[in-house]
Amino acid sequence: MTFSAHLEYLFHITCGECKFYWTYASMDKAFDITKKQYFCPNCGSKNVVTLEEEL
Ligand SMILES: [Zn+2]
Repeated sequence: MTFSAHLEYLFHITCGECKFYWTYASMDKAFDITKKQYFCPNCGSKNVVTLEEEL
């Protein structure tokens, strides 16, 4: 038996209000994080995500 693995896409999100940092994971390469609004887990502010250039 071999080992098996699945590729995970992990978005690093920083709140524009309080600068809290959290992550959002998806297993779907076509997932578009900019399509809906999210709540900051720290301060509760709601906003869309702007996707920055890859590092
Ligand atoms: Zn926040």
